Amino acid sequence: MNASIPTVSLVGAGPGDPELLTVRALKRLQEADVVLTDDLVDARVLALLRPETRVLRVGKRGGCISTEQRFIHELMIREARSGARVVRLKGGDPFVFGRGGEEVTALREAGIEVEVVSGLTAGIAAPASIGIPVTDRRHAPGVAFVTGHRQDGEDAPDWAALARSGLSLVIYMGLARAEELVASLRAGGLDPRTPAAVIAAAHTAQQRQAICTLESLPATLKSQRIASPAILVIGTVVNEAWQVETLPGLQLSAVGSC
Ligand code: SAH
Repeated sequence: MNASIPTVSLVGAGPGDPELLTVRALKRLQEADVVLTDDLVDARVLALLRPETRVLRVGKRGGCISTEQRFIHELMIREARSGARVVRLKGGDPFVFGRGGEEVTALREAGIEVEVVSGLTAGIAAPASIGIPVTDRRHAPGVAFVTGHRQDGEDAPDWAALARSGLSLVIYMGLARAEELVASLRAGGLDPRTPAAVIAAAHTAQQRQAICTLESLPATLKSQRIASPAILVIGTVVNEAWQVETLPGLQLSAVGSC
């Protein structure tokens, strides 16, 4: 990177475990003068920074008071113009449901160069941690990554079309509206017995997961007290999960513990 041109590195921190950082991400973190980080980034990743690196927490958590996006843009622009080596650190991959695109647009409009350092996204890494290969061709011709969360004025995904698509469904931020999205998928014709999985806090010490069916998913989330961040997977690809017992109904599987 040309140090004379103000530059921001948009870096993916992966889902948790620092061993899942890319080599380039680690390099950028250790070179950084200032890091603007999301809440989701694991403390063990931040522990890799040099002691003199300034860490600005600009988390955006659904439902909580969070930093305004415009303020984050201004902060990055100011730091980059001052000559600091700026890293914008995001959980998972910076371009997967992370507003990375909006940040790139704002930075480029301000004449700042942007480097994107891709990271391992939760929608692939969380299912994989319990053996679910989301594009397994024996089950589905592909996968759809969908958000279960939307803000006022944003369109909801076309759940009926997704129900008919035959794709494995990987849903980010789906806990708050789980009942609604399950009802929409069922209304769209998806078999209520379709296998479903939830993987919470994947690749962290708090990882938990449960295997159930589409129809029992809302009850499973409640009874197992599954909390955010969590990925939902819906589709027969869930049958590939490791050590899933064949008890009827729902159970918490003790697989994939970290
Ligand atoms: N850019 C991130 C996604 C940000 S949106 C990525 O690529 O992974 C935030 C959502 O990601 C959470 O609500 C949850 O659905 C998912 N998520 C992030 N980290 C997770 C983890 N360690 N385990 C399970 N889900 C996770």
